[in-house]
Formats: sequence, C-alpha cells, structure tokens
Amino acid sequence: MELSVLNCNFPAAPKAYLDYAAEKDGCRQCDIFSHYRKVIQSEGCTTDPTFMFIGEGPGQDEVEQNRPFIGRAGQRLRKEIRKHRKVFNKETTIISNVLGCRPLDNKFPKDTALVDTCVELWLFREIELLKPKVIIVLGNPALLHVREETGITNCRGGWKFLPEFRAWSMATFHPCYVLRQSHMGYIEQQFEKDIETVANDWHVVVGADRRMSMSEDQWLTKRAFDIAIKKGMIKDYGSID
Ligand code: SF4
Repeated sequence: MELSVLNCNFPAAPKAYLDYAAEKDGCRQCDIFSHYRKVIQSEGCTTDPTFMFIGEGPGQDEVEQNRPFIGRAGQRLRKEIRKHRKVFNKETTIISNVLGCRPLDNKFPKDTALVDTCVELWLFREIELLKPKVIIVLGNPALLHVREETGITNCRGGWKFLPEFRAWSMATFHPCYVLRQSHMGYIEQQFEKDIETVANDWHVVVGADRRMSMSEDQWLTKRAFDIAIKKGMIKDYGSID
C-alpha cells in the first residue's frame, strides 16, 4: 500500500489512520473490487486536516498509479488547489473519494445501496477519524452520498453546515465535468470561484461558528439535544455552557 500527498511526501500518519488504511486496503466487500482488483487510498494530511475534497471514485490512471486524483480530472483539481497553496497543502488537506475502487469502465454504479455501503464503511469512518472542518464535495455522486442532496448546479457555490460531521461544506462541479464542458466557459469559472471562495472565506465561516470551537463533549451533548428537539421529545435545551 502506497500513501503520498499532493505530489509531496506523506507526513507521518497516526497509527489510527494507518490501521484504517490497512483495513480499507483489504476490503473485498463488493463486486466493484473484482474489476481492477485495487483499493485506492486517500491522499494528503491525516493529522487534523482542515479540508477534505471528496470526488467520485478512482479511474484508470488512479489504479495504475495507486493514487487518487492523478488522471486528467485529478490534475485539473490539483491545478486549482495549487493556486491557493498557502491554504490547501500537505499540512491542511486530504483528497478522498466516495468509492474506494474503480467501477467497471468508470461507470458510477446506479445501485445507491451498494455505494452507500462503501461510503459507510470507509468515507464516513475517515471523516469521523480525521474530523475535517471543511468538506468540499465534487459533483453529483459526492453531493448525494455525503450530503443527501441532488442537483450540483443548484447546490454549488454556497456554504452549508453538516451537523452529522460538525463541518462546513461547499459543493462544486467535479473537475471531470469541468473538463468535459470546457466549451462552456462559465462552468470552469464557477468551479474556480467555488474553490477560491473556500480558500478566502473558510476562516471567517468556521471561526464565526461557535459549534466549531466546542469541546467534543459539549458538541455531543448539543447534538443529542438537537436530535431530541427535532423528534419532538423535548421543547428546548437551554444553555450547554
Ligand atoms: S468499492 Fe468500496 S466496499 Fe467495494 S470493495 Fe472497494 S472499497 Fe470495498
């Protein structure tokens, strides 16, 4: 298993992450593995990352090089995030995918239950382990399986808080779509603008949100109350200070 980062060396990964990655490497949970027989790891910061980019799944180049986002679409993403090196770098950023294995002929599975199994097994565990403050979902599959939303064109470009991950999120187009629609200049402009918005504004968005600075205990207590209120089990929770 090979782990590397945004074209730089991989910083020392904590044991908990290495254990997770080793377990993921051995995953044979579904038939998707059988097509190319390789599980592709995430790449980047595994010690308290601020940002997690989430795409669809590995393609041919990713399988050949054993790295995520390394083909044409991946290079388009890397080009964009390199414009903001001070924000997105090996100390702050991890790139991951909804699927761990390359689907046959790059056709993203229509079976959402199958994809959800992979997401729950690996991506959600990875988010839980790393606790990124900002999750950038790239394209419709990531939007659906991470945020349970559809329609990237309408959902892109705005900030959204995701309580299940205690993270702020930005949705934008998948770089593969950006390349395919290069004749429509505004798609590329919107993609670039969304990444720039994250780079410029994340600090204000996260810093202004008191939920993001709560201790883990405070947050879990608040979450439990929020869920109880939503279910109508209690009316309010008062202060949790
Ligand atoms: S696609 Fe996901 S669940 Fe299926 S074998 Fe690969 S890593 Fe495991």
